[in-house]
Amino acid sequence: MELPAILVIEDDDPIATGLVRVLGAHGYDVRRAGHGRAGITAATPPVGLVILDLGLPDMDGLDVCRHLRAARPELVILMLTARNHELDVVAGLDAGADDYLVKPFKLSELLARIRAHLRRVRDRPPAEEVIAVEAGGVRIDRAARRAHHDGQELALRPKEFDLLALLVEEAGRVVTRERIMREVWDTDWAGATKTLDTHVLSLRRKLGASAVTTLRNVGYRFEAS
Ligand code: CA
Repeated sequence: MELPAILVIEDDDPIATGLVRVLGAHGYDVRRAGHGRAGITAATPPVGLVILDLGLPDMDGLDVCRHLRAARPELVILMLTARNHELDVVAGLDAGADDYLVKPFKLSELLARIRAHLRRVRDRPPAEEVIAVEAGGVRIDRAARRAHHDGQELALRPKEFDLLALLVEEAGRVVTRERIMREVWDTDWAGATKTLDTHVLSLRRKLGASAVTTLRNVGYRFEAS
């Protein structure tokens, strides 16, 4: 299958040039934009994945992210942040980014993330065909409100089901505490929430400790394998 094109939106010349060279050497059709506005203009098919630096000269990278997400729901957006500032990370994920890397990052890690995201996109069925979602041995059927683990039906409390369904549907990706509180508990409160922690513990007891990874102060990730 042909690889989708990758767009690098980064104003820093040495970093951008290095990324373009490495991605090109790995067979990707790669383009570059040095500004947010140019990036938004360039992010049209066949571009399927964007590497977006949050620090851009003309626009807030988060606004670029929101623009891209609104225009292209299926686009993979991998953001680069200058430091491991958890507010940046949370804001970026809330703005629609799929994933993030903190500078300086290893190129091998970037390449691995790109491969994983492109595989996920390729394997994703069209939305209208989704009946049940399956990842890491867990199968979620929202319509029937049933969950199975390795073929066995799980006994889940209502909020456990909602939490697990959300995590499994986003398997392999970080789901922020804010989003979980909003979608599962219908509240904007995302501070210290013992309720959420308790539910995650309960899911780990039922699925195994390694099923759900904690990203401290950010959120949780359901492990796809
Ligand atoms: Ca920059």
